[in-house]
Amino acid sequence: MSIKENLNKIKNTFSNPQCLLVAVSKTQPISAIKEAYDLGIRDFGENKVQEMLEKQAELPDDIRWHMIGHLQSNKVKYIAPFVHLIHGVDSLKLLKEINKQAEKVNRIIPCLLQIYIAKEESKFGLDENELEEIISGNEIQELKNIKISGLMGMATYTDDTIIVRKEFRGLYQLFTTLKNRMLPQNFEMKELSMGMSGDYNIAQEEGSTMVRIGTAIFGERNYK
Ligand SMILES: *Cc1c(COP(=O)(O)O)cnc(C)c1O
Repeated sequence: MSIKENLNKIKNTFSNPQCLLVAVSKTQPISAIKEAYDLGIRDFGENKVQEMLEKQAELPDDIRWHMIGHLQSNKVKYIAPFVHLIHGVDSLKLLKEINKQAEKVNRIIPCLLQIYIAKEESKFGLDENELEEIISGNEIQELKNIKISGLMGMATYTDDTIIVRKEFRGLYQLFTTLKNRMLPQNFEMKELSMGMSGDYNIAQEEGSTMVRIGTAIFGERNYK
């Protein structure tokens, strides 16, 4: 199937049409991104800084680039001038670096805190205690050049939809709890990034506001 057919199919199965589709273009060539762009997609997700930089330089300026991968502090400076949203922030140290680099380019960079919800050791993210430490600490208040716009999570990679649904539901509950609570000035809980090619329907049913979809749009990735 073509990118166009895939996109139509995906959009038609969205249980929440308001949910933002972030097209995950990692490992995909410029030509594939251009094709999706010409079909109206403006939000693209990459997980490597170098790759994002190369693509950003060649593609139209109105693309909103989402950093969805695990971001290293020493690379923040490269994407700070243009990145639209950083999804996977999992430490205060990284928040401080994003703030520092955002200040240099006179921006406020929106970030999502990645929460650990899966049963897999390999996945990144904060647990609830670490999240609490960040929220209630003094340092977060000083970071004027970031905005915490919400949470992000990845469910366990399994065919068991009951497990996946339970994990997404737990993240949504945490999200709503935070929404209803007094938070530092630079928090604005409005986005919940959850759902990928295999589980975006469940994620939407459980309250996702943005899904990150790669293979269902572009086909299998070719890791060279
Ligand atoms: C690669 C990736 C995706 C997209 O995965 P697909 O299964 O191809 O849709 C989503 N989120 C993150 C964080 C990723 O690294």
